[in-house]
Amino acid sequence: MLAELLATDGVVEHCELRSAAVGFLAIHGGLEAATFEIAHAVARRSNASLYAVVQPPDLQWHVPSHRYRTELSAKLSAFCQHVDVSISLHGYGGIRDCDDRWTTVAIGGARRDLAHKIGVALSENFGERYRFVSDIVAVPSEYRGLHADNPVNQTRGGGVQIELPPRIRGNSPVWHETPRNDGGFVPDTEVLIETLRTFALVQMGVVVKSTNDDAGAINHDFAD
Ligand SMILES: [Zn+2]
Repeated sequence: MLAELLATDGVVEHCELRSAAVGFLAIHGGLEAATFEIAHAVARRSNASLYAVVQPPDLQWHVPSHRYRTELSAKLSAFCQHVDVSISLHGYGGIRDCDDRWTTVAIGGARRDLAHKIGVALSENFGERYRFVSDIVAVPSEYRGLHADNPVNQTRGGGVQIELPPRIRGNSPVWHETPRNDGGFVPDTEVLIETLRTFALVQMGVVVKSTNDDAGAINHDFAD
């Protein structure tokens, strides 16, 4: 299934091997709006590695994560061998039947310790505006990202899978009047990107200096 997707006209596979400590995945780029753009921005800003598959607008082919098997793609295989911890970004429509589905972010993946740290950092940076669910039993099974063949669990140190509702990706009518920054992002997406960038830099052992200026609010210290 993955081989057929990658062979389809207009589908682009990205693999940028930089830091071996952290890599970002966006395997449903184009299909799940802005997930590739966000992963790409975080990876470039933090010098993290990147693997992504981006579909053209006229294709809507959802190949499930566990079908992204490393033996079917030399680039995915190279990414998984190169990277220690991976962070995989997905878009979803929120947890069904939850009143706050448009503002609920589900954090799965096998590295529950890192999932919790990311959840805490995002909560601190966003306050009450979003709910970050990192308690795995509260995440519906289809969003848990625990399958062994899911590439997020194929890197040496395992990883964290983040399911993003449309609003935090800037893909919501609430942003209709809001100007976007040079990267094309709304303010919430920018906070998300900077929080993940800080996480990546801490994982890499790069010291992030906290300040009291505006940047300080997003330079959350991930240490326990
Ligand atoms: Zn997805």
